[in-house]
Amino acid sequence: MEVVFWGVRGSIPSPPTSEDLKNKISRVLELAASHDISTAEKRDAFLSTLTYRELGFLGGNTPCVELRVKDKIFIFDMGTGIRELGEYLMKSGQSKSGLDLHIFIGHTHWDHIQGFPFFIPAYRPNTNIHFYFSHPQVKERLEFQQDYRFFPVSLEFMAAKKHFHLLDPTAPLNIDGIIVKTMELNHPGKAFCYRIESEGKSFVYASDGEYNNLPNSKINSYINFYRGTDFLIYDAPYSFTEEMEKINWGHSSAVVGVDLCVKAEVKKIALFHHAPENNDEAVFNLLDAAVNYKKQNYSTSELEIVLAREGVIFPV
Ligand SMILES: [Zn+2]
Ligand SMILES: [Zn+2]
Repeated sequence: MEVVFWGVRGSIPSPPTSEDLKNKISRVLELAASHDISTAEKRDAFLSTLTYRELGFLGGNTPCVELRVKDKIFIFDMGTGIRELGEYLMKSGQSKSGLDLHIFIGHTHWDHIQGFPFFIPAYRPNTNIHFYFSHPQVKERLEFQQDYRFFPVSLEFMAAKKHFHLLDPTAPLNIDGIIVKTMELNHPGKAFCYRIESEGKSFVYASDGEYNNLPNSKINSYINFYRGTDFLIYDAPYSFTEEMEKINWGHSSAVVGVDLCVKAEVKKIALFHHAPENNDEAVFNLLDAAVNYKKQNYSTSELEIVLAREGVIFPV
């Protein structure tokens, strides 16, 4: 399996600003001060010593994650990141013979569906789209989003063949040997996480979920659902302090994610749904805090903590 992040920001798109770019340049110049950068070769050598923290942006699109599993394309949520995924898919060889896409919708808050009207493959008659969800009115909600008062093109007008599959959280799905499980998350209006198992590997997409004020039995059921996952995408827009201030907002923090994932023996957690008010530096600070928290509290744990960032491919 491979995970590709196309949108990693929560709530609303939040592209980097000129001020953010200036801060990155300032940091690079600071690091360059002790290097000889007088020729192109020397500059390249210096740049190769830097990390994505200095050289890139995390991305400003709302949630969309692609999972390449066997020969299938699974997509989790349809935030604004799905527009660029659509352009990528249209350029791929597969688009000539017709794309077969499996889209799993965690919930229908705007940031998780707002990109779909701009998803070019959905306008092609030789595209097949299977939508999977646990909210009973997802089709109506997608139609409503494209009511002519909000968007000029209706869902029905989009020429792809659309198939709607209402999932039963008590009954795992089998798509050509790929097992899909789903579970409700604690989030206003309900959200659902997904667990994918294929060829001995496992992946979980768990965006938009809060774990405060839940009975132990419920926490244990999440730990069981996440148990042993190779790659888990976790909703972590808050610091621990913010999380305590925002009870019942339906989101979590990296610190709580580390607690859950260590207990569940998860191998890798990707912090996701970055808050729009946090620039990249603030998000990196949350990552640093989570790594330190893990070191201090679970020194023997092998959990790896990474940041979800747009355009990056993670092998599972
Ligand atoms: Zn969200
Ligand atoms: Zn939400």
